Amino acid sequence: PFAWCTGPGLPLNKGICTTQVIYSYLTTMKFLLVFDFDCTVIDENSDTWIVKCAPEEKLPNKLRNSYQKGHWTEYMSRVFRYLGDSGVREDEMKRTMTTIPFTTGMRDLLDFIGKNKDFFDCIIISDSNTVFIDWILKAANFHEVLDEVFTNPATFSGAGYLTVQNFHTHHCAKCPKNLCKRKVLEEFVDKKLQQGVKYTKIIYVGDGGNDLCPVTSLKKDDIAMPRQGYTLEKMISQMSEDLDPVQSSVLVWSSGIEILSHLKLLIKE
Ligand SMILES: [Mg+2]
Ligand SMILES: [Zn+2]
Repeated sequence: PFAWCTGPGLPLNKGICTTQVIYSYLTTMKFLLVFDFDCTVIDENSDTWIVKCAPEEKLPNKLRNSYQKGHWTEYMSRVFRYLGDSGVREDEMKRTMTTIPFTTGMRDLLDFIGKNKDFFDCIIISDSNTVFIDWILKAANFHEVLDEVFTNPATFSGAGYLTVQNFHTHHCAKCPKNLCKRKVLEEFVDKKLQQGVKYTKIIYVGDGGNDLCPVTSLKKDDIAMPRQGYTLEKMISQMSEDLDPVQSSVLVWSSGIEILSHLKLLIKE
């Protein structure tokens, strides 16, 4: 506890340096919004959308069938190599990717969050890549709404090929090798706590199978928001049927407007 006494802007050794006093002095209470990207913020899978750039807008069968479960990043590396070999360049990819549609109501939702940053921190955890997400958020003017984006790092090589790497390594048996979203979320929350930000509630918005791992780490005051009719919603209902329900509350959505209405209620409380 004594380490808190030397925090920025705090008087040293005033004699009342209990953990509690210092804690309330430093801590900011906020809501944390966590978004998946593909089929959540945008209404498509960005890694599928990029195939529009390929000759005849499709991949050769051999390449398409080369995906091995849990090894998505390696698969996408081969797709990007094929696009590069086919002469598809950065500007064409960018033009294609920025036409990707947002999910209904998501633009309104992100606008609302941007205007209420005093209440909300907002991050994306995605299995897409930094280049795609950056293009799409910047083109729509949303990049400042996000505090951080966690996704596979990508870059264009000198030869003009897009290359992508695994986000991190982890020991979670449930997640693809390149990304465990639970680990990302837990590390982010720990980091913020050290910076004096404690989240009263985590709200997790997603659609896919790889969103289940972080959702099962949520606590009873948190909210899981699975997209209606998508894999995550089905997995969460299956857990309830198996009498092993998630600890958080669950709020199914089909438009960003429904999420927005709920956030309005939260900040009125
Ligand atoms: Mg998704
Ligand atoms: Zn995991």
